[in-house]
Amino acid sequence: MQIYKVGGAVRDRLLGKPVTDIDWVVVGATTEEMLAKGFRPVGADFPVFLHPKSGEEYALARTERKSGRGYGGFTFHASPEVTLEEDLIRRDLTINAMAEDDQQNLTDPYHGQRDLEARLLRHVSPAFAEDPLRVLRVARFAARYAGLGFTVAPETLELMRQLGESGELEALTAERSWKEISRALMEDQPQVFIEVLRECGALKVLMPEVDALFGVPQPEAHHPEIDTGVHTLSVLEQAAKHKQPLTVRWACLLHDLGKGLTPEEEWPRHIAHEHKGLKLIKAVNERFKAPKDCQELALLVGEYHTHGHRALELKPSTLLELLQRFDVYRRPQRFEEFIAACEMDARGRKGLELRSYPQADYLRGAANAARSVAVQPLLEKGFKGPELGEAIKRERLKALKAYKEKA
Ligand code: ATP
Ligand code: MG
Repeated sequence: MQIYKVGGAVRDRLLGKPVTDIDWVVVGATTEEMLAKGFRPVGADFPVFLHPKSGEEYALARTERKSGRGYGGFTFHASPEVTLEEDLIRRDLTINAMAEDDQQNLTDPYHGQRDLEARLLRHVSPAFAEDPLRVLRVARFAARYAGLGFTVAPETLELMRQLGESGELEALTAERSWKEISRALMEDQPQVFIEVLRECGALKVLMPEVDALFGVPQPEAHHPEIDTGVHTLSVLEQAAKHKQPLTVRWACLLHDLGKGLTPEEEWPRHIAHEHKGLKLIKAVNERFKAPKDCQELALLVGEYHTHGHRALELKPSTLLELLQRFDVYRRPQRFEEFIAACEMDARGRKGLELRSYPQADYLRGAANAARSVAVQPLLEKGFKGPELGEAIKRERLKALKAYKEKA
């Protein structure tokens, strides 16, 4: 048997990027030989094994044929006769379809190296169109390598467009989609992921609520960029620049969905967009089965981001309601993430990227003031049950009044 490094490990070494996980392909071997060498099978009907020591993935060279809709609709054929070239041609991009032996000899039948130099994300063969997940993968690689100057080859973008129109994208499971979306959002330029999806028409299929924001104007005084879609991309860009976690990035992407519902007569104003957007945020959350913390933060940021921006003008009672709603006493981290999302929203505006955001410290101070109310003295005064709850709220309100006066 011959063993080669494939995929991301080869690509990233040639790009001079750190290689984290290595995928291997094994040519000329049978399942029995692999098991005899101590490799552990990953799945029953999948010719992939884990190395007994390193735990890295070793896949038998295989060919694939599409036999139905969705991911289940693939037939694999793995046998010792399948060549390296036959295995590489089933891969998505030319830059992902190179292999390397232990002497670093490159096998590159589909000119991945040429495309690396040309900074092009190009599909390997027309079989690209057989798996709609590749639309998301290419957009994700575009987000990752945008900083190096990579773009999607026009003919690949065309195939991606056809996949969007064919209805195949709808066949993707929530799990496979979310895995790509969440990884893409954590790249250095997540806004490029959304841009590429939009360019090939896939955004309209996957997240019509986000797609609808493009072409929707906002008041120029607050939004020099005017367009709500452009604003959303800038907010995402800021979130990545500031190294925000996935929860914050997801909330940034969805915070203004309500603006897509404003009747044109009301443009460029968006009265109550915060509340109107909630059902859309919920729909996107559920479509991709986003993790609970992402879902929760997106809904809270959607509903309360304007409160965040107006923090310094809020009445103490409104401030208290906000803090209670966020349960800042037990969930301090979530409130920090809310503040971060608001700040990214404020900076994701043309020419305002470096503005200061005093609301952030003001909100932190308010949370601390409310948190500093001690329960023990109230217990000692004999408060119990619902009355105790009311008494705590009264004390917190007092603390917030004092905080606002001092600030
Ligand atoms: P990463 O750095 O994100 O791990 P990678 O290229 O290694 O990038 P993997 O998901 O680990 O990506 O997959 C390894 C290789 O398997 C890819 O480089 C590609 O050749 C192939 N591959 C993975 N998923 C697909 C797919 N859906 N369609 C075609 N080829 C794929
Ligand atoms: Mg990999």
